[in-house]
Amino acid sequence: MEMDKGRWGNPEDLSPPRYKAYNLATFRQIPQLSCLNARQIHEIEIVGHVFPFKVNNYVINELIDWEKAPDDPIFRLTFPQREMLREAHFRELEAILKKAPGKEAVEQVVDRIRRQLNPHPAGQMEYNVPIFNGEKLTGIQHKYRETVLLFPQQGQTCHAYCTFCFRWPQFVGNHEWKFAMKEAKQLQAYLMRHTEATDVIFTGGDPMIMKAKFFTAYVDALLHEELEHLQTIRIGTKALGYWPYKFTTDPDADELLHQFERIAAAGKHVAVMAHFSHHRELQTPAVQEAIRRIRATWAEIRTQSPVLRHINDDPQIWADMWNEQVRQGCIPYYMFVVRDTGAQHYFGLPLLEAWELFSKAYRQVSGIARTVRGPSMSCTPGKVQISGVAHIQGQKVMVLSMIQGRNPAWVNRPFFAEYDPEALWLDDLKPAFGEKAFFFEEELRRLLRVRKKRHEQHQLHRLPVHRYPIPEKD
Ligand SMILES: *Cc1c(COP(=O)(O)O)cnc(C)c1O
Repeated sequence: MEMDKGRWGNPEDLSPPRYKAYNLATFRQIPQLSCLNARQIHEIEIVGHVFPFKVNNYVINELIDWEKAPDDPIFRLTFPQREMLREAHFRELEAILKKAPGKEAVEQVVDRIRRQLNPHPAGQMEYNVPIFNGEKLTGIQHKYRETVLLFPQQGQTCHAYCTFCFRWPQFVGNHEWKFAMKEAKQLQAYLMRHTEATDVIFTGGDPMIMKAKFFTAYVDALLHEELEHLQTIRIGTKALGYWPYKFTTDPDADELLHQFERIAAAGKHVAVMAHFSHHRELQTPAVQEAIRRIRATWAEIRTQSPVLRHINDDPQIWADMWNEQVRQGCIPYYMFVVRDTGAQHYFGLPLLEAWELFSKAYRQVSGIARTVRGPSMSCTPGKVQISGVAHIQGQKVMVLSMIQGRNPAWVNRPFFAEYDPEALWLDDLKPAFGEKAFFFEEELRRLLRVRKKRHEQHQLHRLPVHRYPIPEKD
């Protein structure tokens, strides 16, 4: 019997490639690498010890323009760059790899370097992980009232890694069926008690790396009749950018799309929060077909990305990207500022430069694309948007406001910082007009103190930093 293909139909004309990933141990086998010289390959090798590195055949064959490598934006998005490490760190690691390539000595140096790169920014563990029935739910974060984040253990990796990734000290997932069931039940119980939550956000890693059968188990849990308050199931994913076949020709693609349709039929919204950093990621036949099929299930695709030096720090790239997204029926959602972690010194733009870039792009697209908001930083108090520069009583100040706040009352209330063209993050900013603190700071300190105390009582250990095993050489 013909399998019911649902409304999305058969994938059009695509010969499906088999997924093949490369990492630090195997990247020298990539044929296109012959266009790099020995020094460039050596640099990838060194930097790839500190930052996660994984790339796949789709990114290599369809996205990277090898004639432009190593300056090509998609190459820079996926291959470690020398400047991502500070010079002293680079040399130290180079020396130890040359002198004593023994595993333990190298890991010690790597571990120490990673610890100096603020691996767990914005208090994600101490402040956002809920304690429920006396148990810490380490797979859940609940920072903003309406939205509960789920980090399914089966989704703790990605089809390829972004060099700038702020979740670079990741979990290594547990792929057992039993574990998925346990997590789904925990999430369900938590949501039953938290009727203020309207959204669940699957995040990771990339939740779309998980097999559809796991996703189905979570959907079963979320469609429980006592979860009527749940409106939207969001899926934060880079799979459209790095492996669109997940939605077209992978063996479980149809089962996955069936789940999207099933959620919609149950009266809830599926929002695919797609991560696109460059318009080239929207241009292959494979991604266009994947977008078409997802949209045919009633799901909507909203798009987001950070603004990144050396990759997309040009308003034209953003305007082109938003226009292309709109043309394919995607909804531009957020532009982020890179977090204060990892190689921020390489990828980061000053807040004011990000605002100027955002404005130049925003001014040249129609209102349909101006659903995008930003530039926004996800920091401890909330998502802070840089709204611009104003002259108030002879003073030049930066105008900010929160798109999200730990306290919802903080949202959409303008506040002012001293003009600082070099500031990269909220911590670098000073309140304007001689104020001692921003309006939310005292309350924030109080909120965090309470949370921290509760966590200490439950002995939440800090996550170890060293998570990515260094792959063996063959
Ligand atoms: C961005 C974010 C959300 C979602 O916020 P929206 O503004 O609703 O998109 C939820 N939780 C955390 C921790 C976030 O950073």
